Amino acid sequence: AEHYLARMQAHTRLGAYVAVNEEATLAQARAADAALATGTAGPLAGVPIAHKDIFVTRDFPTTAGSRMLAGYRSPFDATVVTRLADAGAVTLGKLNCDEFAMGSANENSAVAPVGFDAPAPVRNPWDTARVPGGSSGGSAVAVAARLAAAVTGTDTGGSIRQPASFCGITGIKPTYGRASRYGMVAFASSLDQAGPMARTAEDCALLLSALCGPDPDRDSTSLDRPAEDFGRSLNDSLAGLRIGIPAEFFGEGLAPDVRAAVDGALKEYEKLGATLVPISLPRTELSIPVYYIIAPAEASSNLSRFDGVKFGHRAKDYTDLVSMYKRTRAEGFGDEVKRRIMIGTYVLSHGYYDAYYLQAQKIRRMIADDFQNAFKSCDLIAGPVAPTVAWKIGEHGSDPLADYLADIFTLPASLAGLPGMSLPAGFGEGGMPVGLQLIGNYFSEARLLNAAHRLQ
Ligand code: GLN
Repeated sequence: AEHYLARMQAHTRLGAYVAVNEEATLAQARAADAALATGTAGPLAGVPIAHKDIFVTRDFPTTAGSRMLAGYRSPFDATVVTRLADAGAVTLGKLNCDEFAMGSANENSAVAPVGFDAPAPVRNPWDTARVPGGSSGGSAVAVAARLAAAVTGTDTGGSIRQPASFCGITGIKPTYGRASRYGMVAFASSLDQAGPMARTAEDCALLLSALCGPDPDRDSTSLDRPAEDFGRSLNDSLAGLRIGIPAEFFGEGLAPDVRAAVDGALKEYEKLGATLVPISLPRTELSIPVYYIIAPAEASSNLSRFDGVKFGHRAKDYTDLVSMYKRTRAEGFGDEVKRRIMIGTYVLSHGYYDAYYLQAQKIRRMIADDFQNAFKSCDLIAGPVAPTVAWKIGEHGSDPLADYLADIFTLPASLAGLPGMSLPAGFGEGGMPVGLQLIGNYFSEARLLNAAHRLQ
């Protein structure tokens, strides 16, 4: 823990951490030492980890990357935080992220990182002029720059897989419902899912086994599936494995350098005895409009709780209750969050609900059906995580559509609730890391981690 705390202080320029509490960290580390000495240690005893600042924590402030939660301290820990602590992990701090997890580059955080007085971009350690990806950008940077042994992230439409890809690390989003959402600041509840990010699939398996499991009293969508040892089949042979290659993931939009790295990884799978099977996910392109209707719709509802009464920020000057709501929300939310609230309330409004929201829900079902159709001829699906390597900070400027379009390969699995992961595949333009995405059928996390481990 001391080693990582010192490293993190030496590399504050990367902007990965937004909160530290040395005293709390060292107390947890001493408790882990004691547990190891008395033989009562959990499977992660003493492992220094850090959490995306979207999980509420008692020992650290929680901001979700927003001014709206400035100064907020949760009276309880998120279930994922509790589970990892119960397994013995030591928490180093909280990690930067896009405001309410909305973003693909960590450029939407309104919070000053540790060592800064004002918000500053999170920097990709492979090239500090580039973004780390998002929304779990601080999480990916912390692992890539060795500022934590492993971390948590959340993935609503790609926020674990895409930053893992951009920073050359490994991350997995489990099947929707595997991990409890209790204490995860809600973005789009039917999509939000927690998962680990680490150097390797093996490390991810260790964390995932600790953080998953039913939480029926606190998250009504948590599945009644006992925690598993997701690392049980890491070394299984891949001989005979059928890997589906969706034609729609290899079209025009895919940068040649990313394609070359992904193709290279697929060749390695063939050498390991797997066969590549051409498949089709015909509604891949529709996943962008569908996601950017459903996620903002749910967000607009979830974010209504930030009204200046119960949490965090409250405007100083107001005349009556309505003006207090209005000013608090105008001051507290950033541009991207406001954009999503506007879109969300619009698509849910009377007269437009059928044309947008309902239509999107129907296509969401078809996207899920397309996957089931594909899994008739393959065991798992492989492709790129993102169409390009990490872009330059500021390159997408004020064009939110540029960010949205870059989510094309991660959104389909999110909409279907399927497990997906990113693992390092090679390098592309500018020597930047390229991730390979693996998507499995429901509850196939152990299989995905096995396939990833065999390539590492
Ligand atoms: N980039 C997507 C968005 O902005 C996904 C974010 C996420 O998975 N949290 O909504």
